[in-house]
Amino acid sequence: MPLQLSREELLDAAREFGTPLYVYHAERIKEQYQKLASAFSILDTDIFYACKALTNVNVLRYIRETGCNVDCSSVNEVKLALHAGFAPSQVLYTSNGIAFSEIEEAADAGVHINIDSLSNLEQFGKKYGHSYPVGIRIRPNIMAGGNLKISTGHDTSKFGIPVNQLQQIEETVRQNNLFIRTLHIHTGSDIKDADVFVQGIEVLFELIPHFPELEVIDLGGGFKVPYEPGEEEINVTQLAQKIKETFDNHPVAGGKKFRLWFEPGKFLVSECGYMLAEVTVLKDTGAIEFAAVNSGLNHLIRPMMYDAYHHIENISNPGGKKKLYTVTGNICETDTFASNRELNEIREGDILAFFNAGAYGFEMASNYNSRFKPAEVMIRDGRAQLIRQRDTFDDLLRKQVL
Ligand code: PLP
Repeated sequence: MPLQLSREELLDAAREFGTPLYVYHAERIKEQYQKLASAFSILDTDIFYACKALTNVNVLRYIRETGCNVDCSSVNEVKLALHAGFAPSQVLYTSNGIAFSEIEEAADAGVHINIDSLSNLEQFGKKYGHSYPVGIRIRPNIMAGGNLKISTGHDTSKFGIPVNQLQQIEETVRQNNLFIRTLHIHTGSDIKDADVFVQGIEVLFELIPHFPELEVIDLGGGFKVPYEPGEEEINVTQLAQKIKETFDNHPVAGGKKFRLWFEPGKFLVSECGYMLAEVTVLKDTGAIEFAAVNSGLNHLIRPMMYDAYHHIENISNPGGKKKLYTVTGNICETDTFASNRELNEIREGDILAFFNAGAYGFEMASNYNSRFKPAEVMIRDGRAQLIRQRDTFDDLLRKQVL
C-alpha cells in the first residue's frame, strides 16, 4: 500500500511528539471529500461527515473549511461541531436509543434531526407538532456491510423503525401533525456494492408517497475504503451514476425532486490516519515471533473488536528482510494487531505504522490498564501540528474523588 505521508514525515512526527501517536494527513481528507462531492455533483447532494469516526475539533474545523457538513451521533458531538464553527443548518443529528431530553437539546440548538424510534417520534410530535421538520430513520431490512457487527439495516438490527411498521409511523405522524422532511437509512459500513444503495432507495420508493412533505432522502454512509493491499475503494462515480439512474427511472408523482444526503465517516478520514507505535519487546517462542508495541487495544480496538485488518509497515527498517511476526500490544488481555504478518525485519525500538487509523481509531481509545491515551498530530501543508496532548498521570486522577 502506498504511504500517503512519507516515512520520513512519520518518523519525524514520532521523534518530535513521541509514541504512541496518531498522525492525520489533512490534504488526504480534502481529497476524499472532493472526490465524493465531484461524483455526486450530478445530483442535488449534501455531504455530512459522520464525525463519530474522529471528532478532534481541529479535524472538524478543517472539514468545515473543505465545505462539508457534519453528522453527529450524540448531542455532545453536536456541541463539538458547533464549537468547531459549523452553523446549526450544517449539522445533522442521527439519534438512536436515546432519552427524549437529548433530542430536545439538539432541537434547542436548531440542528437537523433524524429519529429512530416510534416512542421518540411520538414525543417529538407532542412537543413540536408541525413546527420542526424532522427525519425518520427507517430500518429497510437489508443485510449489508463488511460483517454482522457493522451491519445496521437488517431485519434483526436495533437501528431505525422497521419498514413494516409503516402504518404505526403514519398514525404517529397524523396524530401529531408532524412535518416529515427526511427519510433516512444507513445499512452498514464497508459497503462496496452500489446495488445495496439502490436496494435501499427501492425500499424508500414504497414509502415516499406516504410523506407528502418529504424533501430529503438520506442514504447514510458506509462507503468502502481499502484496508488490505489489493482491496479497492467503492467507485463513487459509478455509484452516483447508478443512484441517478434509479431516481430517473422511477419518477415521483408531480416530478418532485429530492435532495440527497450522505453521511460518510470512513471514506473521509480512514486513510488520512496512521497510528505510530514503538516496538518494545521481541519474543521468539520458536513457533511464533511476537513483536510487542507500546500500544494495544486501548488505542486501536478495531482488530480485536471487528477482526479488522490494519496494514502495518516497519517504517524504521523499510529495506529489512521480510519475516513473519505476530504484532501485539502491551495490554493485560489478548490484543493482537496482526498474526503471522510478513513485515520487514523488526528490531526493538523500531517504529511501526498502522494504516487506516483515522476512522474509529483514536475515537474508540480508552485508558484501559490505566495507560495514557496517545497524542494526536495533524500534518497540513507539510507542517506537523499537535492537536491533542498525550495524557499525563493527572488525567488519570482528574475525575476521581480523592
Ligand atoms: N451514519 C450513521 C447513522 C452511522 O451509524 C454510521 C456509522 O456507524 C455512519 C453514518 C458512518 O459510517 P462509515 O464510517 O462506514 O461511513
